[in-house]
Amino acid sequence: MAKKENKTMNELVALCKRRGYIFQSSEIYGGVASTYDYGPLGVELKRNLKELWWREMVQLRSDIEGIDSAIIMHPKVWIASGHVDEFVDPLVECKECHRRFKADDLATVEQCPVCGSKDSFTEPKLFHLLFQTYMGPVQSEENKAYLRPETAQGIYVNFENVRTPARQKLPFGIAQIGKAFRNEITPGNFTFRTREFEQMEMQFFVHPGEADEWFDYWKEERRKWYSSLGFSMENLTFHVHEKLAHYARAAIDIEYDFPFGRSELEGIHNRGNFDLSRHQEFSGKSFEYFDQARDEKYIPYIIETSGGVDRCLLALLVDALVEEPEEGDPNKTRTVLKLHPRLAPTKAGIFPLVNRDGMPEMAKKIESELREKFMVFYDDGGSIGRRYRRQDEAGTPFCITIDGQSLEDGTVTIRERDTMVQVRVAIDAIAGMIDKYTDEWRRDGGLSI
Ligand code: ATP
Repeated sequence: MAKKENKTMNELVALCKRRGYIFQSSEIYGGVASTYDYGPLGVELKRNLKELWWREMVQLRSDIEGIDSAIIMHPKVWIASGHVDEFVDPLVECKECHRRFKADDLATVEQCPVCGSKDSFTEPKLFHLLFQTYMGPVQSEENKAYLRPETAQGIYVNFENVRTPARQKLPFGIAQIGKAFRNEITPGNFTFRTREFEQMEMQFFVHPGEADEWFDYWKEERRKWYSSLGFSMENLTFHVHEKLAHYARAAIDIEYDFPFGRSELEGIHNRGNFDLSRHQEFSGKSFEYFDQARDEKYIPYIIETSGGVDRCLLALLVDALVEEPEEGDPNKTRTVLKLHPRLAPTKAGIFPLVNRDGMPEMAKKIESELREKFMVFYDDGGSIGRRYRRQDEAGTPFCITIDGQSLEDGTVTIRERDTMVQVRVAIDAIAGMIDKYTDEWRRDGGLSI
């Protein structure tokens, strides 16, 4: 079992490098531990994912506003938030091999997972997860600053700056996508846990009496969103937290069954009025809200949905990666990334059957027309079969081939990635067909062009 699981992650990592999705950062210098760069396909997938989230959470709703706050904030923010005091993980060291582990991870094992030595760990020591830097040229205590470990605090401190000009009344939310940094002790599992990552966070401000209701509402909304991305829902679990973080009143994690184990993609938390009360206390500015409808003053409760862009993207790739027997030759397999067409970096591959007789010219014309609407990829290298395989691996949902008949009657063949069904259509019907199929696509197939 373990062998098969490793193989899947190794295959995915290799495919990501081969197709230009994700690769090791600073590779020519030997790489930096657990930092990755997104290549041409990776950056498109990431943009598509973030745009879908933004559209769903901000643009389609009148009760959520967007924000883009700074990474470096006033150091007091992180004292008020509790990060300076609480954002620590207890760490133990193996006395034999000197490798360090999170104490929590070793709670049930007595042996060093690396060297096998028994009962030889140091006492747990607290390890700070905040990235520290200095503002200005002098590296002194008063110039100390932190890279934000979450985007949420940029939302809390700007509660009034957003609410007043947007003329929002409770309940309403503020959403943000941006980078966060944590000096993780045990980064790993490819892009699952890194020290630099992106978050998609939304903080919904509510009357304390309505917090439970909104918590349930957001749980369901977020479930629907993951389903709309095309995830196989049997791979997703809602894990209810018994043990709560210092700020939370209720917490649920949305977890995905990765090859390396079930792990968190997003947290949904009822944070009570902890955050706004703390910022009120530390800044001296009031965060009390006057609720006209109720004729009541209170500090709002917050329901947060806090997801990772990179983790969601990794789960999407794991979920989409399929190896299946080739039709006609069961000894051979084809590798396909069955990404939702809405997320797929390239929507269509465009192939002239041969490089002569006017086919490349016609294919180039179709390419430039479609490029106005979608990302497309022109490929005239190698056999059609090989060109299909390359696009299957890249997750491209359609391949359009221009052949001899195209020159005569203005039709092309379109081949669909998942079913490999091919149909002939008129050139001016291609874009409409791609749109329709994208809207109707389902993870379990059953739909063909
Ligand atoms: P974990 O328990 O895995 O460390 P967490 O509970 O600390 O995660 P939160 O603080 O709730 O995570 O952060 C919200 C989201 O941000 C997570 O669900 C995850 O998707 C993402 N995230 C957090 N830490 C990392 C990281 N080191 N690398 C990539 N994504 C991360």
